[in-house]
Amino acid sequence: MTKMTAQEYMDRESKYGAHNYHPLPVVLDKGEGVYVWDTDGKKYFDFLSAYSAVNQGHCHPKIIGAMIDQAKKLTLTSRAFYNSSLGEFEEYVTKYFGYDKVLPMNTGAEADETALKLCRKWGYMKKGIPANQAKIICCNENFHGRTITIISMSTDPDAYEGYGPYTPGFVKVPYNNLEALEKELQDPNVAGFLVEPIQGEAGVFVPDEGYLKKAAALCKKYNVLFIADEVQTGIARTGKLLAVDHEGVRPDIVILGKAISGGVLPVSCVLADDDIMLCIKPGEHGSTYGGNPIAAKVAIAALEVVKEEKLAENSERLGKIFRDEFKSINSDMIELVRGKGLLNAVVIKPKNGKTAWDVCVAMKENGVLAKPTHGHIIRFAPPLTITEAQLREAIGLIKETFKQFE
Ligand code: PLP
Repeated sequence: MTKMTAQEYMDRESKYGAHNYHPLPVVLDKGEGVYVWDTDGKKYFDFLSAYSAVNQGHCHPKIIGAMIDQAKKLTLTSRAFYNSSLGEFEEYVTKYFGYDKVLPMNTGAEADETALKLCRKWGYMKKGIPANQAKIICCNENFHGRTITIISMSTDPDAYEGYGPYTPGFVKVPYNNLEALEKELQDPNVAGFLVEPIQGEAGVFVPDEGYLKKAAALCKKYNVLFIADEVQTGIARTGKLLAVDHEGVRPDIVILGKAISGGVLPVSCVLADDDIMLCIKPGEHGSTYGGNPIAAKVAIAALEVVKEEKLAENSERLGKIFRDEFKSINSDMIELVRGKGLLNAVVIKPKNGKTAWDVCVAMKENGVLAKPTHGHIIRFAPPLTITEAQLREAIGLIKETFKQFE
């Protein structure tokens, strides 16, 4: 059989797949650590890490080993029966993050939906909100996934336009604005405040220092649950295990996804204490694959890697180097560099008709993969296993790219 060209791979996806993504023109075939290779054997630094799912690096041997061992033994029982792996994961993850209970799901969006249901149920059972009146506050420019309910919270027309009618019960406030938040919290029907500690998809928008701590305190004052969506920011990405740890905040509900499996299979979960989690009763929520034995073993291995390889510390240290180096690049296309740990973004000012997309295509040619978000922002999020030497090499390639646009 003759080898397919990159163009043929892309054409096939375009012909048979829905057009719900607009990928960079590169066809990946293999990954190891911080590197990926395309179908022609060209090697790249992966500076997207599958939107921060691959924090532990591609095909981490310990995580893959855990998956293979479990796959040979038992893959899925559903939750109709107990299995010998789930309890081990539940004990491990709750002790790891310091919560009474966990509810396992698969994707980030499902975990967000779970948190929303849990919050509403708590609102009725514990706060005494009248039936069907519960409200949840969310932030402008949020990103929590793609379900109908989640896009009902969105302020991005690309996410919600053409998909109504929308789920009621959400109140939107500007991000990083405590005054607006407090005003809404006074409504006795508010059950929860859902927030990303750093808004990832919005373009790595970091709130002012103290925002999360004060927001959590306000929630406590008004008996409202503080819910942190750490799907993208969690698991060491921002230089701490959770991004809320930067401010010493303990959310009432934590939502995790992506890197909890090291990018190996969809695993997500919600963490909370008994007073909240036990509001959901048997038969009221679940998922066929949620908490399956492979997911359980993979997630334990993925979380062990984070601690064993000190990924939070590495992310914190190398993130500072990344931002310092970037700020030293002399290019009038770079408007702003921001981020925490190894979750960073660069705001691009178009020049001579060249945009963030063109910069990403040129970086790809030079061996670094990243993707624009919202047209003018490039997110840089390499696997957290990256070494200082690898980071400096990649920054060298990025600098060369910007020179090409001078
Ligand atoms: N929440 C946040 C903060 C995210 O960044 C994402 C995805 O990017 C999601 C939820 C949705 O996760 P998934 O794509 O696994 O449904």
